[in-house]
Amino acid sequence: MTSPTLFGNDPAEAPAPGTRFVDVVVNSGQPARTPFTYSVPDGMAVAPGQAVFVPFGPRILQGLVVAEAETTSLQAVRPIASIADPDPVLDGAHIELAKWMSAEYLAPLWDCLACCLPSGYGQKAVTMVSPVDIPPLLPIYPKDQKILRFIAANGRVTLDAIRESVGPVSLTLLDRLQREGHLTVAQGLARSSGRPRFERRVGLTTEPAAAIAHAETLAGRNAKSVEARILLHLAANPDISLTEARELGATPSHLRHLESTGYLHQFEQQLERDPLAHYEFTHRAPPNLSAEQGAALQAILSNPGTTLLHGITGSGKTEVYLELVRHTLAEGKGAIILVPEIALTPQAIRRYGERFADTLTVFHSQLSMGELFDQWHRVERGEARLVVGSRSAVFAPMPNLGLVVLDEEHEWSYKQVDPQPRYHARDVAQQLCTLTGARLVLGSATPDLVTYHRSEVGTIKRVELAQRLAPTADGEVREGSLPAVTVVDMRDELRAGNRKIFSRPLRRAINTAVRQGEQSILFVNRRGSARFVLCRECGYLPLCPACEVSMSLDVQSPVSTMLVCHHCGRSRRLEDRCPKCDSGKYRPFGVGTQRVEQEAREAFPGARIARWDSDVSRQKGSHERMVQALERGEIDILVGTQMLAKGLDLPQMTVVGVVDADVGLSLPDFHAHERTYQLLSQVAGRAGRREKQGYVYIQTYESTAGPIVAAASHEYRPFYEEEIAHRRRAGYPPFNRLVRLVYRNGKKDQALDEAARVANELRVARDTAGRSEPDILGPTAAYIPRIRGEWRYQVLMRGRAPTRLLESIRLGDRWQVDVDPASLL
Ligand code: ADP
Ligand code: ZN
Ligand code: ZN
Repeated sequence: MTSPTLFGNDPAEAPAPGTRFVDVVVNSGQPARTPFTYSVPDGMAVAPGQAVFVPFGPRILQGLVVAEAETTSLQAVRPIASIADPDPVLDGAHIELAKWMSAEYLAPLWDCLACCLPSGYGQKAVTMVSPVDIPPLLPIYPKDQKILRFIAANGRVTLDAIRESVGPVSLTLLDRLQREGHLTVAQGLARSSGRPRFERRVGLTTEPAAAIAHAETLAGRNAKSVEARILLHLAANPDISLTEARELGATPSHLRHLESTGYLHQFEQQLERDPLAHYEFTHRAPPNLSAEQGAALQAILSNPGTTLLHGITGSGKTEVYLELVRHTLAEGKGAIILVPEIALTPQAIRRYGERFADTLTVFHSQLSMGELFDQWHRVERGEARLVVGSRSAVFAPMPNLGLVVLDEEHEWSYKQVDPQPRYHARDVAQQLCTLTGARLVLGSATPDLVTYHRSEVGTIKRVELAQRLAPTADGEVREGSLPAVTVVDMRDELRAGNRKIFSRPLRRAINTAVRQGEQSILFVNRRGSARFVLCRECGYLPLCPACEVSMSLDVQSPVSTMLVCHHCGRSRRLEDRCPKCDSGKYRPFGVGTQRVEQEAREAFPGARIARWDSDVSRQKGSHERMVQALERGEIDILVGTQMLAKGLDLPQMTVVGVVDADVGLSLPDFHAHERTYQLLSQVAGRAGRREKQGYVYIQTYESTAGPIVAAASHEYRPFYEEEIAHRRRAGYPPFNRLVRLVYRNGKKDQALDEAARVANELRVARDTAGRSEPDILGPTAAYIPRIRGEWRYQVLMRGRAPTRLLESIRLGDRWQVDVDPASLL
């Protein structure tokens, strides 16, 4: 239960001449994108960035001052109720950042500010309802009666509790019951959940010698004196926690007695909740950078703006980041390193800790609210000058920011999907660096197409690392070799009579690896499963003629014989035979990890096989356990999904088999080729990372598909050229921006009607404005048309500035707006 703080209501007054005004963003739960103006009562010191309480309708709510407002045209402006915190919580740059996010992602301004606040800062308004001492006669309406019975039985309760028990209850209804004298309603704020934690401690007030002397006197009178024991303990330890004192046998009366005789005092101390407490870092001196790394470092340092560090896997990018951090700290500035959540492993943290233990902290989703709260304040006070964290760490309140790095910048986990704001950490970082003058480095072996395009047109600088480094067992490093990649055409396998999941070359390679005590990965591309149709004879995939994405089986059609495009809704009957080569082997496909595991057991008897997929990985600590088992050599063959692609660095891992490289290619999303290329490159990068040569087998029915050929040749450039041409033709990013609007409703007809209404309204608004863009596509059923009983329909907007059209259109709260969506599925 939260205990509310109650406030009275301030009536609106006409402001006196000379009154100061400020703009306040209010935590109202309404999707406001602009602040409200309030007057500042005489004598109240208020500055931008400060948290306040303000009257809002009948309630008092939390707010944040974002600007001084010189004058106001409003007749009656209400005054700020009180100051929540004497010191500002946000600086100017973060206020500007939040405003930018709100405009960029069409998100409520409060939600954007909340991203920058310490975790648990937001205090929700709660409505409290209490019974009255002498109620009038019971009202006649059953709902009224239910409410009154509930509060009579439970006393003072929150409105939420009433709603949970009796169903929907409106504020109007409560208001009427209050006027009729049945109950009283009050507004308040729930206590914020993030706050510092304090611990009671006990300390000596005398010199240790005096304490020891007194302890000896006490012990002389009573050999078992608890007070003597405590004094002796304190003489050796300057102060101890109350818990420890209790463990020594101290009762409150012992402590009071020692306090009154002047030997000790009790005090409160803030406890630092430290997510790195269980780490022990041994300091390691930096290695000498290779010539290529040194040149990259200099190139980045000479660029005050944004640099793309394009370096193949294992080329030493992290080592370059570490040097950049050293430079930044030496200049007296702070640094933020973002890594994908899944890559934020103890091994990764250790690399930063070994170099910068004193000033390092981490931010990620597994931290407790308390840990996040304390670390936020440590950063704000300037005690932690290096933050390593996932997506949301971009909001760390680093004073004097000098550097932001996004490692694996192409990762789509940098995009927040829910809740609002649906931001991309790369774009937020870019804006933050523009506001603060910090340097931004985007690192990847397989850059996002949009990022690479920016480096091509010169918006950002590009620096490359082309050599793979292979650390040897004795701590040296030599030039490493990339794994040898074989593309296996599964049509050849079929023709040769092999109907199994594993091709003959892959099977031979794994058998050899197992025999030599080396390890293999069988990678299963599970996204999408069996919704795609493919010709096993010629590799034909049905494409939408309008969108250039593959069409998939319509799960809504009862007999699953319709193909549908999830971008534009175009559909057609699934042909019996391949439209291209007329073969009968034109069927849905896709296998799961369990089937692959089972077939691997049959194909490789005696090998130790483990499976790693989302079922297994949900167990806490399972990732660490799996990595340990691999490191100890307890696993020969690992079967798993895309999660495997990240971060595994195992000396004995020599063979990687991609079981079904095509699955990702056929996803109905314009990112499909890019994601497939990135995934294949990352997975292939797991093999042969040390002195042993690695071998990768990519099994496919489309051996000539661009992403597959490019991943096999370890070349980004040809892939980029082909894909960017496609994007240009079809009008996808970076040539346009997309906005995805998704509407949810339990009733299918209503969902479709509303989606169609909005699509139409958007078209009309565009045409009346005399514009030719954006394109409005849809409505179509979402790729997953029904989630938790709700039907989902989507409308896509595509144009150079598609959000502009949405400024004037009001969408209800069942609409979800995603600007620059990372996925259209
Ligand atoms: P990336 O981040 O590009 O994948 P890393 O920075 O992890 O590459 O480097 C790959 C391996 O090479 C790591 O084990 C790292 O410790 C080692 N390494 C990188 N640079 C050097 C160097 N200059 N001297 C010695 N070892 C290095
Ligand atoms: Zn289409
Ligand atoms: Zn065919």
